[in-house]
Amino acid sequence: MTFNSFIPPQRTLMGPGPSDVSPRVLNALSRPTVGHLDPTFIGMMDEVKQLLQYVFQTKNTFTIALSAPGSAGMEACFVNLVEAKDKVIVCRNGVFGQRMLENVTRIGATPVVVDCPWGEAVDVAKVEQALIEHPDAKFLAFVHAETSTGALSDAKSLCALAKAHQCLTIVDAVTSLGGVELRVDDWQIDAIYSGSQKCLSCVPGLSPISFSEQAISVINHRETPIQSWFLDQSLVVNYWSGEGKRAYHHTAPVNSLYALHESLVMLHEEGIENSWQRHKQMHEQLAAGLAELGLEFIVPANERLPQLNTVKIPEGVDDAAVRNYLLAHYNLEIGAGLGDLAGKAWRIGLMGYAARNENVALCLAALKDALT
Ligand code: PLP
Repeated sequence: MTFNSFIPPQRTLMGPGPSDVSPRVLNALSRPTVGHLDPTFIGMMDEVKQLLQYVFQTKNTFTIALSAPGSAGMEACFVNLVEAKDKVIVCRNGVFGQRMLENVTRIGATPVVVDCPWGEAVDVAKVEQALIEHPDAKFLAFVHAETSTGALSDAKSLCALAKAHQCLTIVDAVTSLGGVELRVDDWQIDAIYSGSQKCLSCVPGLSPISFSEQAISVINHRETPIQSWFLDQSLVVNYWSGEGKRAYHHTAPVNSLYALHESLVMLHEEGIENSWQRHKQMHEQLAAGLAELGLEFIVPANERLPQLNTVKIPEGVDDAAVRNYLLAHYNLEIGAGLGDLAGKAWRIGLMGYAARNENVALCLAALKDALT
């Protein structure tokens, strides 16, 4: 039996992630591997931290990239902060709110679930009611940009409410970071995680996270040890910390971090607010074209994510046949519906490097062809 090198097709990725990776980032990925404690690499890691502080809009010193995907970032927030004795209000308006809930129950903590309809933002009034009814709740957890439905929640108001009720916040920014307004310090977010493969347009497998001073204090005053060795941030920090000698924790994914560095440099060059604006503009262009094709959005206009457009599959149209046609004839990937929306919706991503005029034009032309 012989095995050949794997040469992937050149796709245009307009699904829920991973998104298109720019040639600049792919080029960075292929640079020579150095040791993960090489002084030049440590210098680059320091820049990654600074650039992450910029994209998260925070001065939090604990701002790093975990060597694992977004789900590990989620788990890191929960296992470091939450103990079995704690009560956590979890907002659930899609698949990833449900995943947060699973983290809470596996820890043995007490969840209070605030259920909101799929395809809608988290209901701020319902969250306020839960905070009033559960004054002993220690954390409020919610997904800023629910990738399974395309709904954007009002993180600023939710965090302000949590603070008013002495709750810490755990925020999922996997799809929001870089694509919509997000201000960790101004909004007083305590623990936040993201993913490299969405609006940062980097390769998958890294999870930027950031903890506030208050979150660090909660971790330092835990009554029980953190159950996970790999995700214990008090250990990881010795590898990422700028002070003193860097200690080996695990072998960092050196080349993937080059790629993250490059994608963050690109975002810094563009300016984070310009990036938010570009996503909005591309979304408006796409939405106008989708309306001409007679495709309807699932999410109400004022709660839509610019970077993830969820549209109803028209009556009588074969979901998989259309997606396969786009792949076969245009090398274009759009996403299927997830969870409750499986078979009912398509998810069209405009994330990071994919949020460009040519992608919008390609997607609209390809969909028109597929549907007529
Ligand atoms: N949270 C949200 C909102 C996501 O969209 C995703 C992935 O799509 C995750 C968490 C999990 O990230 P990953 O697939 O990188 O583990």
